[in-house]
Formats: sequence, structure tokens, C-alpha cells
Amino acid sequence: MATVKLTNVKKIYPGSVNATVHDFNLDIADKEFIVFVGPSGCGKSTTLRMVAGLEDISGGTVEIDGEVVNDLQPKDRHISMVFQNYALYPHLTVYENIAFPLRLQKNPKMSQDEIYERVTNAAQILGITQYLTRKPKALSGGQRQRVAIGRAMVKDCKVFLMDEPLSNLDAKLRNQMRAEIILLRKRINTTFIYVTHDQTEAMTLGDRIVCMKDGYIMQVGTPTELFDWPANLFVAQFIGAPMMNTIKTELTKEGNKYYVSPFGYKLEVTGDKGKLLNDRKVEPKEIYLGVRPEHVTLVKEGAKNGFPVTILVNEMMGSEYHLHVQTEDGTKLVVRIPTINLSEEERAKMVAGEVIHVAFEGKAMHFFDIETEYNLLTDNQYHAEDDPETPIKSNEAESELPAETSPVEEPKAEEKAEEAKPEEASKEEAPAEEKKEEKEEAKKE
Ligand code: ADP
Repeated sequence: MATVKLTNVKKIYPGSVNATVHDFNLDIADKEFIVFVGPSGCGKSTTLRMVAGLEDISGGTVEIDGEVVNDLQPKDRHISMVFQNYALYPHLTVYENIAFPLRLQKNPKMSQDEIYERVTNAAQILGITQYLTRKPKALSGGQRQRVAIGRAMVKDCKVFLMDEPLSNLDAKLRNQMRAEIILLRKRINTTFIYVTHDQTEAMTLGDRIVCMKDGYIMQVGTPTELFDWPANLFVAQFIGAPMMNTIKTELTKEGNKYYVSPFGYKLEVTGDKGKLLNDRKVEPKEIYLGVRPEHVTLVKEGAKNGFPVTILVNEMMGSEYHLHVQTEDGTKLVVRIPTINLSEEERAKMVAGEVIHVAFEGKAMHFFDIETEYNLLTDNQYHAEDDPETPIKSNEAESELPAETSPVEEPKAEEKAEEAKPEEASKEEAPAEEKKEEKEEAKKE
């Protein structure tokens, strides 16, 4: 358990002109679960690896529990780490794989009883007790990933670091493991930093999310804050799936009422959003109007604020339709319609070429400055106004990259570094009799 503080942390890789991570500032509270999210290549892993000590810090400081750790070796930082390319020793049993970091510990050396206690406890939490005597190749992908997590769990650590730990798993298993990580977090109750490019993982796991782009922090906040009050168009489009619709339009004002005019319709900005625009004295201007697909609703023809759209594609998702539609002026939108309350007659109309009527309310609207792409209704404390290179302007999030790794392999150099030089393992490993005894115990279990 510990706080983590990053102050003006910067990374410039040798041979690079530009920084990969720019003045990264973040205070992480004790026992907080922080998620770094952003498209591939935005500097999430680099930042995490600087916390772990696997990457030199080019500028700024990293503090763990109030101590500056910039010059400490990974093994002296009291961190545990799980990587995407979780690597197990193929020749060791599950028990020995989990026990491995404990066997390396010196001063004091850990007793067999203590090792047994910790390994079996971790195995129980992760539901892999029955596999302790197996070798990794006799496990499924999900089971292997649990072993890798178990190996990180058994050490006494102040901070638990996870770098895309679920990326190698198939979609179903990923959902299951995501739920397990939520439970695991409750049980081990420590400070977590979790890296992912998957906004769903970020939303479901994080107490707070750090959304990054091109080495800059775009926004830090709770999942709800990022979803409801994205600081800029990039965050608005990165968080939430399908992506938020954005329409270039005019924000106008008559008396104390604000209006937007997407697709040739004039819609009043009703409710709190209208009030906030007034409170902030927002000047009428050209904007990007943002509306999430799930906030566009099906309405009857002639309904207030309703407008006709033609269905281009209907993606049937089971519980809902993702409709790709086109307005009369040719603007393309995505609309999410729950299927549960639709009559047979309505369902029959949800096909390409049909015209339906939809609407959205004032509270569903987001307003972004056309020049800066900042949200007109939030305080954008995370952009660097004095840094003209801050890449606030949006571009479409990169698609998921396929994971490339062999399922069972020796730990990589970086993992070895974190585990305090496994090449020492042969010297440090327990005598054969001890190991045998342990295996017997594991078998009994
Ligand atoms: P993310 O985790 O967000 O996908 P990374 O932190 O892995 O991104 O990488 C950020 C950028 O730094 C990428 O452009 C990547 O190519 C570059 N990078 C990563 N590792 C190195 C390295 N060892 N040397 C030079 N450039 C690197």
C-alpha cells in the first residue's frame, strides 16, 4: 500500500528528438486503482515502466510512498508487475512458478512454510488450487494468466502494476478476467496502476482514468467524469462505444436560450446544459456538437425535436441495434436502439433504406470549440495551454492491435529485471529435497 506521485515526468528515448512522455503529473492515492488508457503508442507502457524502474526517467521525479525512486533498481521499489506477454517457466509447475519470486528473496530468506502459505493463498484467491502440480503447457490461456497474476501477488508490494494483462485472451475470457480483477483488487487492497488501450477495461476497472494521447495527458477523472464531461473531443470520442457522433454546427443565442442547428433543424439546448451555457456566458460560435449513440432515441413522426433519418446499416447486437443512419442533409450518425421494447412491426422497419424518426435532448449534447476542440462546459485543466504542441485535436482512435506472443515462454529480460535477476535463480533455488517436499505438499492440496 502506497501513494505514487509523478512530477513532470518525461521520457526521451535515446536517438529520439521528441519526447515520448511530456511532463506527466499525477498524484495516486493509497489503494487507488488508476488506469492509463489511450491508443497504441501514446506512452502508457513507457510511463508505467518508468514507475517500475524498467525504463530510465529523462526528467522529473517518481515517488513511491513519499520516497523518490528515480535511481532505485526495480527490485528495490516494492512493486509487482504483470505484463501482457505473461511468461511462465515451462519446466516448472504452477506451484513453483508462483513461488519463484519468493525463492529469490534474501534478507531474510523466506521459509518453506511461509512460501507454501502464500502460494496456496494466492492460488485459492485465483481459483487455480487444483492446477498447482501442473506444468504451464497443460493450462488454458486464462489459467496461465492467473498463474502470472499469482506470481505477482505473492510478493509484498506497495504498488501493483499491470501492463495490458488481458490483451492475449479471447473476448469472452477477457470479460471474465476483468470481473476477476475487480474482485482481486478488493482482496489484495493495494495501489494499482493498470495500462490498457481498451476503453471498456478502463471504464470498468478504474477509480480514476488517465486518458493519454501522443505522450500527453488529455484528462484525468473518474469513469463517469470522462464519459459525461469529456474535456475535449479526443476524450469524448475515445471513451464510449460506439464512438460519440460529432456534427459541425452553430451555437446561437436568443435571449437567454441557446440553440444548435444540426442537419438544418433548430434545436433548443434544454435543461442543465442550457443553464450552464448561460452561467458560463458562452459566446455563440461555430462548434462541434457531440451526441452519444445511446442518447439518440426513437420517436414518433412529428414528435418535438424529432428528425427523419434513413437507415444505411443495421448491426444487430442482440440486446440492441447499432443503426448507421443518414440525415436529410447527408450527415452520418450512429444510433443505439435497445430492442427489448420494440414491437414486431417496429423491428420490421429497422432495415436498410427505411426512414425512422429520432431525437436527442439538451442533456445529451456536448459542445466543443471548433478551433481548440475543448469542451465549452468543462475546466480543461489537463491540457498544456502554454505548450502549443499539445495534440488536443482529435483523430480517430487506432484500432486494437493483435497480440503477438507465444503462450508459454521464458520470462523476458524486463520481467527478469523486475524479478531480481532470475539467472541467480539456479544458485538460489531450494535444494532438491525441499522442492520435492513442497511438491508433495502441493499435491496433497
Ligand atoms: P503504449 O503503451 O501507449 O502503446 P509505448 O509507451 O509502448 O506506448 O510507446 C510509446 C512510443 O515510444 C511509441 O512510439 C514507441 O514506438 C516508442 N518506444 C517504445 N519503446 C521504445 C524504445 N525502447 N526505444 C525507442 N522508442 C520506443
